[in-house]
Amino acid sequence: MLKLTVDEQRWHNHLAAFVASCPGIVPVTKGNGYGFGHALTVQESQRLGVDVIAVGVAQEVASVREHGWDKDVVVLNPWRPGDEVATELLSDPKVVTTISRVEDVAAVRDLAPSAPILVEVETSMHRHGVGADEVAALDLDGLNVRGWTVHRPSRATLNEGREMARIVMRHPLASRGIWFSHLSCDDYITLSKELDVPVRMRVGTRLWLGDADAYRVTGTVLDVHWLPKATPVGYHRIKTRRDGYIVVVSGGTAHGVALSAPMSADSVRRWLVRGAEAVANMVGRVRSPFTIAGRHPIFAEPPHMHSSLVFCGGPGEPVQVGDEVPVNVRMTTATFDEICLK
Ligand SMILES: *Cc1c(COP(=O)(O)O)cnc(C)c1O
Repeated sequence: MLKLTVDEQRWHNHLAAFVASCPGIVPVTKGNGYGFGHALTVQESQRLGVDVIAVGVAQEVASVREHGWDKDVVVLNPWRPGDEVATELLSDPKVVTTISRVEDVAAVRDLAPSAPILVEVETSMHRHGVGADEVAALDLDGLNVRGWTVHRPSRATLNEGREMARIVMRHPLASRGIWFSHLSCDDYITLSKELDVPVRMRVGTRLWLGDADAYRVTGTVLDVHWLPKATPVGYHRIKTRRDGYIVVVSGGTAHGVALSAPMSADSVRRWLVRGAEAVANMVGRVRSPFTIAGRHPIFAEPPHMHSSLVFCGGPGEPVQVGDEVPVNVRMTTATFDEICLK
């Protein structure tokens, strides 16, 4: 069982302090809710008193609704004509749809002109968005424009924020406001004061994962076997290189374990797809993300779906059955069997 334990008070204090220092932010709760799940991110968003949250795709709206979110939801992935769920949501007055192409503006005008929309402007990231040179002449007549949105992949500077704002200002509806991401709180507040239009900022990682001491991930030791050197172990019958312990600990590929630090995801992926020979070559070289007796032991073989075999040298039993051991996982790709609040 892979467990996420959240120090609820500490986490809540961090979230509240973040929102207080960066007023008007829009919590992003896409995907697995940054590891916490939509139940918790919705509950916290309600406690924080925010008026709107953001999800990644239209299909995630139902999930935050099920968990009790009844205010506005922004769908970050831009609307496309083939997405039936997204199209259905155009008639929900509390779902804000992102529109990123000129032809989609026209399509939404035909389908549901009263749908609340944000118009995305292309940035240097070149992912989605109406081109900067198309903004001024964009025909948004008859549409329920809530504002404009720009997304930068990582830390954006104040000047980049200003530059994006200048582009939006070319349009008569710039006054509806601009939604940013990845500005520092200081730059966000500076921009909010500088621009005479409403400014908002979406935040996911810095909000939910900003206090790394507010949560921890652990696996449970399921078995510990002392084995002499050259004992074949695991599915691949690979021989141990010295005397020591095989520790079977919960947490495997189904949980997203080993898809991130401390070894490169790529080396593990290569390891997982190749045959027994490749496995044998990698044994002893791939450190696991588990911490046992203060160290990251090596994997004895590639992780299984729900557990992993790691090798700990002797002497002395490194852990006991039932012990909980820390695991380093990437929160946005992890799946937990249990989330415990304490
Ligand atoms: C994911 C996402 C964010 C939040 O990004 P973090 O780095 O997790 O804060 C903001 N805006 C958009 C458009 C996104 O897709």
